[in-house]
Amino acid sequence: MVPPRDLEMIVGGERTCARSGERFDVVNPATAQRYASVPLGTEEDADLAVAAAAAAFEPWRKTPATARGALLAALARLLEARATEFAAAETAHNGKTLADAEFDVAGTVACLDYYAGAANKLFGQTIPAPADYFVYTRREPVGVCGLIVPWNFPLAIAVWKLGPALAAGNTVVLKPASQTPVTALMLGELAVQAGFPPGVVNVISGPGARAGHRLVTHPDVAKVSLTGETTTGQNLMREAAATLKRVTLELGGKSPALVFADADLDLAVDGSLFGVFANAGQVCDARSRIFVQDRVYDEFVTRFTDRANRLRVGDPTDPANHIGAITSARQLEKVEQYVEIGQREGAKLVAGGTRLDGPGFFYRPTVFADVDNGMRIAREEIFGPVACVGRFSDYDDGISKANDTPYGLAATVWTNDLTTAHRAAEDIRAGGVWINTSEFLFNEAPFGGMKASGYGRELSMHALDAYTEVKNVGVSLGGHMPVFEF
Ligand code: NAD
Repeated sequence: MVPPRDLEMIVGGERTCARSGERFDVVNPATAQRYASVPLGTEEDADLAVAAAAAAFEPWRKTPATARGALLAALARLLEARATEFAAAETAHNGKTLADAEFDVAGTVACLDYYAGAANKLFGQTIPAPADYFVYTRREPVGVCGLIVPWNFPLAIAVWKLGPALAAGNTVVLKPASQTPVTALMLGELAVQAGFPPGVVNVISGPGARAGHRLVTHPDVAKVSLTGETTTGQNLMREAAATLKRVTLELGGKSPALVFADADLDLAVDGSLFGVFANAGQVCDARSRIFVQDRVYDEFVTRFTDRANRLRVGDPTDPANHIGAITSARQLEKVEQYVEIGQREGAKLVAGGTRLDGPGFFYRPTVFADVDNGMRIAREEIFGPVACVGRFSDYDDGISKANDTPYGLAATVWTNDLTTAHRAAEDIRAGGVWINTSEFLFNEAPFGGMKASGYGRELSMHALDAYTEVKNVGVSLGGHMPVFEF
């Protein structure tokens, strides 16, 4: 058991309590016990953090890009040195297995290194303008960025935003989710240690409806990047309109997997298990709708159900377990409600469907077979360990079912036919399509959604687009200039 921690916010380079002095408890979902206490930041605290970030912006944007990159690299080294402690904290507030948390922390270090290297590779262009003009573009930072993060990958998603924002010369106010604020606050402390000038990196904890909302409406915040539910994104867009903020939205999903009859079925079964049950299904691009071609449907369901029943759920610090806890009691209740809905709708419950006894929020890997794509369990994001398996007849039927969703975050195609694979990669309306693998994120490749899954891209050099404005500069080299005739 990791000892409980009391943390503070980081504002203007200082450890800072909430102005009100209030705090709130963070619960370890594996034990249902208090794990940490953090400040309950409100509008007032968001204002102070924005003021610090605004004051730091001019000098930071003028800091040479190589020096900005060096600070990101220094942060990466500090995180790497404390990877064990960060992984333990990530498990303790989120409930994911320690192995998953260690994987996330290693990926986060690599993400910081990626943007450390990217800082001085953010080029403008020279434009082949008409004769006697020299025209070029500059990539300039947007300003103060509000970075609002969900609870399923608390550290990784914070850094997906913070890395490119800082590399491009923005200053930031990071607000983690209230369920999982610990590792973001720890990261804020490391940023101070790494030597970021005061105010460049601010981290505040507090309710989305207060501290988060203030970031969205504050006139001095130029850009907000949210990862969260689609409804949160819709509200945010409306509220950001008043100050014409730039917004990036990484929202929900109901991602499909298509298992074609020619696929390697062992691979498709194991890959689909990971695709839907990793992180207890609390993954935005979980492949939660699995469509299997008629000819192999029965065999797939039998094998998939058998494997799901053999997954071990429990204490996330026990390396024998595949799946840890659901992050909150509320989320566990939501999963239970959807399982009831699925049964009422007539889907066939073939595995799981119950929570584990005892303290903590655990739910067994659950499989519904014979799911019709019109059912609520197939249309709405459950965000838990619930797989919906249905069937398709031919290519067109499969693509049509994959695309019949409000969301468009990701998809997997299981097939050994190259033509099918690449046609499907074109025909599926999603931000990412993976062939013969359920999930693999690379810091080097873009990630993001179409349709109700949001817009904008994180990771890769594309993420830098979200944190920069393109400025055009035109210089006359004695070329024709329109003037009034006198
Ligand atoms: P959420 O929308 O409840 O909260 C996300 C963040 O927004 C939190 O920090 C919260 O405090 C804040 N927030 C809430 N209301 C706000 C408001 N009015 N103004 C400003 N901020 C506000 O989402 P969650 O439950 O933390 O995360 C799960 C959701 O995130 C799922 O829908 C999942 O699909 C999505 N997600 C998407 C991606 C992606 O890249 N597309 C990745 C991970 C998670």
